[in-house]
Amino acid sequence: MQMGFSSLYAIDQVMDAFKISFDHEGFSGTGDVVDVYNEAVFYDENEEPFTNGASFNSFSDNMYLGRGISYFNSLDDYNTIDIVGHEFTHGIINDAHFDALDLEGEAGAVNEALCDLFGEFANLSGLVDWKLGAEKSDGAIRHYDNPKAYGFPDTYLGDYWYSGSGDNGGIHTNCTVLDYCFYLMANGGSGTNDHGETYNVTPLDNGMWDIYDIAWQAMMHYIDGDDDFITTRNCFIQAAKDLYGSCSEEVIITSEAFKAVGISHYSPQALATICGTYSSSLPNVLKAFSLFRMPWLSIQPISEHALLPLTQEQT
Ligand SMILES: [Zn+2]
Repeated sequence: MQMGFSSLYAIDQVMDAFKISFDHEGFSGTGDVVDVYNEAVFYDENEEPFTNGASFNSFSDNMYLGRGISYFNSLDDYNTIDIVGHEFTHGIINDAHFDALDLEGEAGAVNEALCDLFGEFANLSGLVDWKLGAEKSDGAIRHYDNPKAYGFPDTYLGDYWYSGSGDNGGIHTNCTVLDYCFYLMANGGSGTNDHGETYNVTPLDNGMWDIYDIAWQAMMHYIDGDDDFITTRNCFIQAAKDLYGSCSEEVIITSEAFKAVGISHYSPQALATICGTYSSSLPNVLKAFSLFRMPWLSIQPISEHALLPLTQEQT
């Protein structure tokens, strides 16, 4: 039950963060029930069980948290605030949109990156370390601040970019390109990407708070369905325009960050203008409704041997 207490603390922090900053309750935004299952067991493609993972299941609308590699070491449980915030964001993407962002290909990587970012955001009262699950005793799952040092891509279609069919098209790998983009927007940075393009991104005035606002605007109002990296770039620029105005410093920094990670290198004709009007059709505001207005949550243990329903993704 020890894991239940720490999971309860984490989901409480996560739900408070979204309520306080965005007035968003539950997955759908209207205070629906959130169930969190502890000690979850997942199964890989070879039907081998594993416990070092976490997931949001869009069919059951439940969150499942694994206990890590060791049953007895509570410090490796997959219930850190950023991991719980990550899975909670999958729930928001799924339940607060009529045409939810996919979980495969580039759209899936966009989905994962948004969850990575809002996993950090959920840790309002704690350390924002730009890593996923670094508080676990076995270390971080992804490093947004320097993905390449850990064998993950920091450039669109660059080194370490996964182009195979595993993991729904490498969604848990290619997401670090956007993770790094968001990191640059919040913290700034300079270098040369894998396409040989040099960059020098200055941080947004209010750092991570501005990127959270821009990303929330883009995620809730524009990014849907099978949107790819280039569309996501355009949506972020439109979101920055909404919040700060065309030609604002925030719009320019957003554009520079997406250019830094190589997204502007391809199909420049498809790119939104920075200071003009982006005329491509963007989805209207899509927010689902909930039949319930019950801000309840429950923490429930499940059998170690319980076979979970089909999970869309792990972590
Ligand atoms: Zn995920």
